[in-house]
Amino acid sequence: MKAKHLIIIALLAFGNTLWGQKIRVRLFSERKLDKIELKASFGAYNLLFDDTISATMPRNAHIGVVMKDNRLAVSINDSVIGRYKKLKFVSNGLKCFFQITPSNDEKLQRRYDDDLIVFCDGKSLICINEVEEYNYVAAVVQSETWGATTNVEFFKVQALCCRNYMSKNLAKHSKEDFNLCDSVHCQVYKSRANKPEVIEAVFLTRGEVITDDKGKIIETPFHSNSGGMTVAAVDVWGKDVPYLVSVVDSFSLKSKNLNWEKQIKQREWLNYFRDKGIDIKDSANLDTLLHFSQSEGRKKDLLGVSLVKIRQDFGLRSTYFNVEPWGSDVKLSGKGYGHGVGLSQEGAIIMCEQGFEYWEVIEHYFPQCKVVKPQDL
Ligand SMILES: [Zn+2]
Repeated sequence: MKAKHLIIIALLAFGNTLWGQKIRVRLFSERKLDKIELKASFGAYNLLFDDTISATMPRNAHIGVVMKDNRLAVSINDSVIGRYKKLKFVSNGLKCFFQITPSNDEKLQRRYDDDLIVFCDGKSLICINEVEEYNYVAAVVQSETWGATTNVEFFKVQALCCRNYMSKNLAKHSKEDFNLCDSVHCQVYKSRANKPEVIEAVFLTRGEVITDDKGKIIETPFHSNSGGMTVAAVDVWGKDVPYLVSVVDSFSLKSKNLNWEKQIKQREWLNYFRDKGIDIKDSANLDTLLHFSQSEGRKKDLLGVSLVKIRQDFGLRSTYFNVEPWGSDVKLSGKGYGHGVGLSQEGAIIMCEQGFEYWEVIEHYFPQCKVVKPQDL
């Protein structure tokens, strides 16, 4: 078969998943940068100035970049070498990573895989990491979940959720000429991955994504703990999503952080509902407000006031709670942590520790969805 045909087949097979491709992620996106320092941590790097002039990065050199008159004043080991519009820090070979330190502040120092582009937008230095998608996925999984477990199977679950998010949001910053930022606005990306369990999980699931019954890549929201039952997306965000429905989730009941309690002054609790137009002098209403129960299953509202709103206004850990009078207070006894839609991370960890495989966990939390390998898309 001709090489051209092979390339077309490869594009058809992997075009949807970015398997083995680089993406562009803006670093320090929430910070104004006027000065950075770069250093190759591992592997060899080349420097490319304004896309044309190139130089090999001297070993152990540190590159200083300072914003001056909307240009980059670049120095190597403190010797100024010129002013440019753009600097590219290009890895020479596999597994290269570099260190970036903004404003000489070592507390902000981070390490990233692959390449870096630096330019100026008039207000700040813009740093774009051009990174292999698998290095990005591993870094996000480590940023978001390391510390909760060391279970490889769970990291596979998170890798697929992260890859789905990435695939669906590549155009989120297209006007700014990069794909994703490094903050919670997209996915937290605060350093390269270096934990073997995370890297192994990403490698073993490379290219895989989760699709619905029509073969479409799905949204994969997750939360800390469902409290024993997940919530339908329509009850939280008002949007009906066929695979984000309420699921009985006994696995989350085995977590240490399951239960929570909060006491609120009875007067404050009742006045809150009075201000929402509810007649609190009516004895039936009063009884409901003081003895609200979700023991038979999750509810959407309390006398028409959405539980999502109540959770927000009282700063509750979840919407899954019962109410009882407690002296001059009411006591809210709740289960779970987070919005409750999609995957429960603590439940998923328990499933993985019990021997379930990552695709079984995904099929439990996202009904009618399945894991698809890149060649099957
Ligand atoms: Zn963003």
